[in-house]
Amino acid sequence: MERSIDQWIRPTMAKLKPYTSARDEYGESREDMIFLDANENPFDSGMNRYPDPLQRELKDRIAAWRNVAPERILLGNGSDEVLDLLFRLFCVPEQDRVVVLPPTYGMYSVLAAINSIDTISIPLDGKFEPNVPAILECNSDNTKMVFVCSPNNPTANLMPEASIIRLLEGFNGIVVVDEAYIDFTDRESLTKLLDRYDNLVVVQTFSKAMGLAGIRLGMLFAQAKIIKYLNAIKPPYNVNGLTQKAALDALEDLESKKAQVAVLKAERARLAGELEHIDCVENVMASEANFILARVANADSLYQYLIGRGIVVRNRSKQLNCENTLRFTVGTPEENKVLIEALKSKT
Ligand SMILES: *Cc1c(COP(=O)(O)O)cnc(C)c1O
Repeated sequence: MERSIDQWIRPTMAKLKPYTSARDEYGESREDMIFLDANENPFDSGMNRYPDPLQRELKDRIAAWRNVAPERILLGNGSDEVLDLLFRLFCVPEQDRVVVLPPTYGMYSVLAAINSIDTISIPLDGKFEPNVPAILECNSDNTKMVFVCSPNNPTANLMPEASIIRLLEGFNGIVVVDEAYIDFTDRESLTKLLDRYDNLVVVQTFSKAMGLAGIRLGMLFAQAKIIKYLNAIKPPYNVNGLTQKAALDALEDLESKKAQVAVLKAERARLAGELEHIDCVENVMASEANFILARVANADSLYQYLIGRGIVVRNRSKQLNCENTLRFTVGTPEENKVLIEALKSKT
């Protein structure tokens, strides 16, 4: 099958002329230049200037950290924004479709609905893995993307690399792999496949392992041509100056994040072991993420019981094939201890 990105791009987006901001022209500000081009307040407050619309310094650092060329990186206001930009770039409202694999992250279908795009649901199989033949049967000129979350939220398992490769080779559209939890696994990121597959998009975030959900920073990795199109349609200053600065600071201290992830992985194992011995817990899913999905006797009542003890977990019972499940985020060792004690003392 001969394929090129252009056949999937929404025609109006391919023709779009982006807004050019003052900071696009001389963004790499030289100390000795006088900037009278952007109607900013000239008195230095550290944040009086518009931020770099292309976040060049931050992308260079992320490129070195994630081993992906800077021209293959798009940054956004959380993964939510970069995912939304994919809909805008590839999908014609009221006409195109995307494939989602429930139970999975709810944002894909919310964003589809906001963009007036239909979703086709192809449930994960009995092992919560993609049903590749059924997904490939959705191939059509109007089926533009498939969303694969790996490790998957809420089931916490990794998707087999072989299945994703079969999708990359056989799916007639963009394969979006959401790796929000990749740092909690030992598996390498699928960014390593970007050289081989033009239709691969990998999404990551600063919200989980990097501990910076509050700054809203999402990363998207894809071939340079896709990034060029996305840059043309994104809001010019979608990553604010405080966020860029906080991310650069965090990248100066990756060792402390690594140490936190190590603690969380050890706590995940401990919490899973403890959960297995709790009477009302029937099954504990193996986890490659920083949360654990467990099937319990009565999720609604256990959820309410925990609320009464001041502990908020996530009831995932309404998700497909997740009846009577609760999702427990791995907390600090102290928090996990309180959770286990609350569960043990439930009569
Ligand atoms: C938490 C999460 C994200 C992160 O979203 P942000 O907008 O970057 O905070 C992305 N995908 C999945 C599956 C998640 O669970």
